[in-house]
This record gives sequence, structure tokens and C-alpha cells, in this order.
Amino acid sequence: MSQTASRSAIFLEEMGVGAHWSLRNRTAALAPVEDAAQTDEPAVDAEAEQSAFTQAVMRAVMERPAVEQPVRAQPVNEQPVHEQPAPIAARAPMPEAPAASAPRVAPVAVPPAQHTDPAAEDSTAWFDEAPVPARAAPVSDEAIAAMDWAQLRTAVATCTRCELCNTRRNAVNGRGATDASWIALAAGPSRLDEKDNQPVAGEAGQLLDNMLKAIALKPDADVYVTNLVKCRPAAEDGTDRPPTIDELTACRPYLHRELQLTGASMAMTFGQHAAKGLMMGPAARGKVMRYGDAELPVVATYHPDDLLRRPEDKAKAWADLCLAKAARD
Ligand code: SF4
Repeated sequence: MSQTASRSAIFLEEMGVGAHWSLRNRTAALAPVEDAAQTDEPAVDAEAEQSAFTQAVMRAVMERPAVEQPVRAQPVNEQPVHEQPAPIAARAPMPEAPAASAPRVAPVAVPPAQHTDPAAEDSTAWFDEAPVPARAAPVSDEAIAAMDWAQLRTAVATCTRCELCNTRRNAVNGRGATDASWIALAAGPSRLDEKDNQPVAGEAGQLLDNMLKAIALKPDADVYVTNLVKCRPAAEDGTDRPPTIDELTACRPYLHRELQLTGASMAMTFGQHAAKGLMMGPAARGKVMRYGDAELPVVATYHPDDLLRRPEDKAKAWADLCLAKAARD
């Protein structure tokens, strides 16, 4: 094969028609290149060869089957060939709308599916059937009366004796000396007390310590500070509120046990709700009240929070502290 014919064959291969094209002079075309080189083939006129080549291409194109176009791998760096949209006839036919006159098929009633596998159940109704965690049984008065400090603190932390257990963040145990001779009582934990988990927390607590020091008491050694109710009473709007009689009554066994365990012989109440709550009735400043069968002496004064808001009442608070110290001595 001449160089021109060889280039033509390559060109046809590139066109994708080489497999369907055969030269008229098939024997010469199929002859090995080496043989052709060695054959004493007469020179072919270039113009005649070009004409034969052109005709061969035309025949190959015209005779080429309409199918089986070989797909050539797309080189990575070649621009992708945009496919031509398929002829409309080749597209999936659109479903035809039923003729208006066509008889309508009556719908078949399908019975509701029977869910036998709970995992396949799509409904969330089972949430309502989930068992509510059982609320721990309230601790009895007798059990509280026999508790030591550790048991008492645990019982308070997990107590369910009144509804405040449903709204508390945490129950607030007392602080200070466990063998204190004085007991300082507030009505209930404030929001800050609950957050800090100690009675009379923050600035009010600092002022309370200073008041006690003013009458020669050591806050950490001589005084036990606690609330009448250990869980924060909150109003509907989220603010602090005084405890109710029911809440005071439910929590009272804890206070009685704290009095017994400390052995305190003097009590001071801070704030009017603490005084009335302890006495379960009228209470007043400026006199020594008695509480319980042991007739524990009690003196009422202002809550440190009140004194922080109204410093002018500090003089009256000082008089109350002096009265309590005199009653204790
Ligand atoms: Fe129990 Fe007292 Fe708290 Fe009520 S306030 S849940 S009685 S610890």
C-alpha cells in the first residue's frame, strides 16, 4: 500500500467507517506493508489514486449500516460532545388521557392495612401509652425523725412530699455548723439560692454573716442556716413566692430533724414569711416568741434582701439581733 493509501485508511478508521470499507484492490490493500515495500509495484498516478479514494469513501458512507456506530472512548482533555436530543419518535410516548366517553372503572375498596409489626407503625400514639416514670414514694415523718445528716440530705434532695418537687431545679439543703447553737431560718430558697444550691446565697448571704458577726457569732461554727421549705416556691410568672401552709407542713419534719441534730437552742427568722411560716400564724418583731414543745426561743428580724433594698431598716435589725443575743445569754 502506498503512503497515500495508508493515510487514507487511517483517516477512514478515524471517521469510524474503516470496518465497513474495503478497497476494490483488496489483495493489495491487505498486503503487509513490508511485502508492499518489497513488491515491484508500478507507481500509481496520485490524481487517479485520490479519485479512487474519494469514490471509496462515498461508497463506504452510502453503504454503511445505520446502526452499530462504535463508541470511542472520550479522552479526558477533550471537550464533551453534546448529545443531540433523541428524535421525538424515539421518546417514550405520553400516556393518553382517557376519552371522556370511556367507561369509568369503579374503585375497588381496599381494606385498611393491618400493622402487625410495631416497628412499621407510623403513628406516634404510642407515646401516650409510654409508662410515666414512677414518682418515688414520699418519705414518712417517722423515717425522717430517725435520719442522720447524710440520710437527711439525701432525703431532701430526692423528696416528693409536696408539689414543689415538680418545679424545683434542685432541693436546697442547709449550710453551716451541724452542731450549731443558733439556727437562722428563711422561708424558702430564692432563684439565686436554688442556682447556687445554698440558702441565703449571694450578697444577702454576706450581709447575713455580717449581722451574725455583729453579735459575736462565728457564722461557720455557731450558726446553721436553712429554709423552712427546701424547694423553691415559684409563682406562675416565675418569680419567688412565699410557701403555702401545705408546703410548710410537708417540709416541717426536715426542719424538726435539723433542730434535733444541731441541738440549736436559739432561733432567728429572717423576713416576715419566715416568722409567720415558722409559727404557722401571727408573728411579730421586737419580742421573743416560743416554738414547739421545747419552747425554742425565736426572734424575728428583716431578711438581708430587704435590708439591701431598704438600708434604713438596719437599725431595727440591729435591735432584733441584740434582743436575740440577750434571750440566748
Ligand atoms: Fe420535700 Fe420540702 Fe421539697 Fe416539699 S419543699 S418536696 S417537702 S423537700
